[in-house]
Amino acid sequence: MLENIRIVLVNTSHTGNIGSTARAMKTMGLSNLYLVDPVSEPDGKSSALAAGAGDVLANAKIVSRLEEAVAGCGLVVGTSARSRTLSWPMLEPRGCGEKLIKEVGNYPVALVFGRENNGLTNEELQQCHFHVCIPANPDYSSLNLAAAVQTLCYEIRMAYLNQDAIETEESEYPLNDDIERFYVHLESTLSKVQFINPSHPGIVMTRLRRLFNRARPESQELNILRGILASIDKAAEK
Ligand code: SAH
Repeated sequence: MLENIRIVLVNTSHTGNIGSTARAMKTMGLSNLYLVDPVSEPDGKSSALAAGAGDVLANAKIVSRLEEAVAGCGLVVGTSARSRTLSWPMLEPRGCGEKLIKEVGNYPVALVFGRENNGLTNEELQQCHFHVCIPANPDYSSLNLAAAVQTLCYEIRMAYLNQDAIETEESEYPLNDDIERFYVHLESTLSKVQFINPSHPGIVMTRLRRLFNRARPESQELNILRGILASIDKAAEK
């Protein structure tokens, strides 16, 4: 079960943090680590800090884009130390652990961490269903990357140990890949009917992502939406 929880580090600069993350994960029973475009690949410093979690480090998958790390996932949660301009559905660390455990029986799920110097970009955060923020000291809320991983993996472990009390998710949610395909289709149709200018999709697509993300359509509902777009495409071509 815990193997289906992916811990994703985006564009990490310090190889030591990659090792400390592997250790934080293994102590909580997690093993599936993804590294998106790390500034340097794991090295001796990573191994030293991974200590007994060298296996997690050795099995880490290195990919070039966030999309690849979350491909096939039905739930993606992004982490953020500060609130962003465009608010997104938020989870508390405890609720985040419970949600991941509640859904991980249905599909792989991912928890995404940002860069040491400036976190995740807005574009990356918009690829997530929810954001989680550790309610740290408001005067100094930015934890070390691996410390943030440890805190949130601890909550996953607590939820895992308490799973009898957590109902599994009954709704059939689509995988991330299907949702991304829907957004591509939506943008293409909206350009075709000249609702948006293809060279300047602007804030409209972001707002629509936010709307559909908030609604979290189930698989069947997403199919209906795709069907509507296909009908509009057909009518526009006539
Ligand atoms: N200066 C950056 C903070 C980066 S800390 C910023 O303002 O965004 C590196 C990473 O650790 C973050 O991207 C996030 O993944 C995690 N992290 C640090 N503090 C956190 C907090 N309070 N809540 C959730 N994640 C946090």
